[in-house]
Amino acid sequence: MLVLQLTTAFAFRTPSPTFPSLSRLQLHKRQRQTFRALASSSSSSPFSSSQKVGFIGLGYMGAGMVRRLLEKGDDVIVWNRSVEKSEKLLSEYPSTTDRIRVRIAKNPKQVLEEVGEGLTFSMLSTPAAAREVFDAPEGILAGIQKGSKLIDCATLEVKDMQAFDIAVKAKGGRFLEAPVSGSKVPAETGQLVFLTGGNEGVFKEAVPYLDAMGKASFFLGDTGKGTEMKLVVNMIMATMMSSLSEGLALAQKANLSTEDVVKVLSLGAMANPMFNLKGPKIIADDHEVNFPLKHAQKDLAFALTLAEKVGASVPTAAAANRDYVTALEQGEGEKDFSAVARVVMK
Ligand code: NAP
Repeated sequence: MLVLQLTTAFAFRTPSPTFPSLSRLQLHKRQRQTFRALASSSSSSPFSSSQKVGFIGLGYMGAGMVRRLLEKGDDVIVWNRSVEKSEKLLSEYPSTTDRIRVRIAKNPKQVLEEVGEGLTFSMLSTPAAAREVFDAPEGILAGIQKGSKLIDCATLEVKDMQAFDIAVKAKGGRFLEAPVSGSKVPAETGQLVFLTGGNEGVFKEAVPYLDAMGKASFFLGDTGKGTEMKLVVNMIMATMMSSLSEGLALAQKANLSTEDVVKVLSLGAMANPMFNLKGPKIIADDHEVNFPLKHAQKDLAFALTLAEKVGASVPTAAAANRDYVTALEQGEGEKDFSAVARVVMK
């Protein structure tokens, strides 16, 4: 039975006859009208003003996400390796005599300590970066205390999330993995999809915050299940981008108009926002970054590892991964992942 939890002051459950096979899935879906009604019926914030929120990692994604929390009324304590990103946020949300909107912590430990039993989000780039920030003497784990609640939103490997979960629990805290589907613009506009696993109590408490940053949130079970879902989704996405590039390359060699290919695709069953957005950009060789290619390759590699672990055959994704590795070797890693086309269309 699919369980649909609605975003109201109270969550309730509705059985769905449509997806009977998704018995373990819980979908928490944002009900925009309900949310707007709440916001417009009261001048106060929908968030508890006494609850502090921490945010660690203000990169492409974290920068947009933290602004959504601020826009919805939260005051935040932030830390980012490059302090300029925190300072930019502070200049956009200056403090008033009676209210500090953004406080810059001197290290991740201080974020956790000051947030206390509130929620702290982390959004770091890679497992190595996350481990560095978690394990540093003044890092995340050093700041975890009894009652801490940490929500990690990065795309890492299952084993990383499980290790963080164990380490947080060992210090009396609670952990939720919450990788996101969606890119820079969805992060800025509150359109992310959260794929969570771990502590369900933290998930329930996080719902108003996830709603501020996203349009839907799934609770998928134990720590690792959210990451697995994220890797499946990103494997499909990266493979589709490689396939689109190949189609455009074939059209080009056959003296067909690549613009026409994108147009024809947009009118059929394969129409999707990604092809509509990235198709014209690939043709224009415009790869302004939203989702860096280096992260797309990271996620493909993690998906291949997962496939091997569970015994799934994914030859199409393995072939796509080779395109991304070549693109990385050719120095395209900091560009958008659409830059895989620069390899495929050569
Ligand atoms: P990003 O901009 O490359 O980096 C995120 C953060 O990691 C930055 O705050 C960066 O700090 C920090 N960082 C990197 N190495 C560090 C280190 N050694 N020590 C301390 N901090 C370090 O990544 P992003 O695009 O926001 O992505 C964040 C996560 O979300 C990744 O796991 C990614 O796969 C996933 N994701 C991304 C997208 C997307 O479209 N971008 C979409 C869905 C999921 P600095 O600012 O100092 O560099």
